[in-house]
Amino acid sequence: RAHPEAGRLREGLTPMPDVVALDGRRGEGGGQILRSALALSLATGRPVRVEAIRAGRKQPGLLRQHLTAVRLAAAIGHAYVTGDALGSSELFFEPQGCRAGTHHVSVGTAGSTSLVAQAVLPALLFADGPTELTIEGGTHAPSAPPFEFLDRAWARVLRDHGAHLDLHLERPGFFPAGGGRVRIRVEPWRAPRPLRLLERGRGTNTEAVAIIARLPRHVAERELARVAHHLGWTEAQRRIEAPTHAPGPGNALVLELQHEYVTEVCVAFGARGVRAEQVADAACRAAESWMAATAPVGRYLADQLMLPLALGAGGTYRATELSLHSRTNMEVIDAFLPGAVTTEQVEGHGVEVTVRGRLA
Ligand code: AMP
Repeated sequence: RAHPEAGRLREGLTPMPDVVALDGRRGEGGGQILRSALALSLATGRPVRVEAIRAGRKQPGLLRQHLTAVRLAAAIGHAYVTGDALGSSELFFEPQGCRAGTHHVSVGTAGSTSLVAQAVLPALLFADGPTELTIEGGTHAPSAPPFEFLDRAWARVLRDHGAHLDLHLERPGFFPAGGGRVRIRVEPWRAPRPLRLLERGRGTNTEAVAIIARLPRHVAERELARVAHHLGWTEAQRRIEAPTHAPGPGNALVLELQHEYVTEVCVAFGARGVRAEQVADAACRAAESWMAATAPVGRYLADQLMLPLALGAGGTYRATELSLHSRTNMEVIDAFLPGAVTTEQVEGHGVEVTVRGRLA
């Protein structure tokens, strides 16, 4: 398809809207710059050019997970795209709207289904109708939100503020086999309420789930015993999930800490050569660190909440800390919506993040 710019010029129409230029070397230097750029471009209609994509990573450029996100965003936005190839370090993306519909994509590796979803969900919350997504890939993969985090930590906050976001894990997919599947239904978030998340409220439930697929059950048992030892969680708060339909072997320990106003989900993944006890220790450390703080929003949720708020009614939340991911995300959002996110240190209570919403 010819570039829309050429057509515009030929027909004597107005030149292309300002292209947002982003440098993938900035800040954290990873895939988040690209994913946030896609969501923001879809939602605002502004074309974007990202150069030096994932320049800060060992294997730079577009991996399958990122390419899948680009293709999905392009389908949703009927976008004109250049540079959408594996290993590509530069992408141009110009959407023509953001249309609801039904989409199915497959990463083809254990690349994260949650991260693919996060490249489009913030925009789809403000599309013209309901959307059904089926995404295949890694649902429990390192360095990405596991399915439970996306659903119970991230989507929960948005649901609490009026969003209709249903997520369903059809089949888990672990690293390296992948092949998991999630189904997501998202409806337009009409009349979003500004977020106000300054406290956790009282604890309502805690649960440790050791997911174990095609591996000896004692791995999961040892992980849960360690959770009992470190956190003192009772038998009723611990369970084993042994899906039989995962395409490959895998293990994840998921700790869910439910409070009145927020849920934190901490995870650690089993890997070859890593003892079950070490896996459990890592997950417990993350949970203990969140429990020791007072702010409701943990470090991962902090970077992931900015986008849906900036595109919606905005709001304020307190985060335990501001990661480099969060700061990088602020920069990307700023390129589309200048001054949308501001932060302030609150003595003894972490960082207060205030987001000015586009629809506020
Ligand atoms: P990137 O490294 O740029 O591909 O981005 C990783 C994204 O995954 C960020 O949005 C992180 O907040 C998120 N993330 C990484 N690890 C976790 C985890 N254990 N739980 C929840 N989110 C995570």
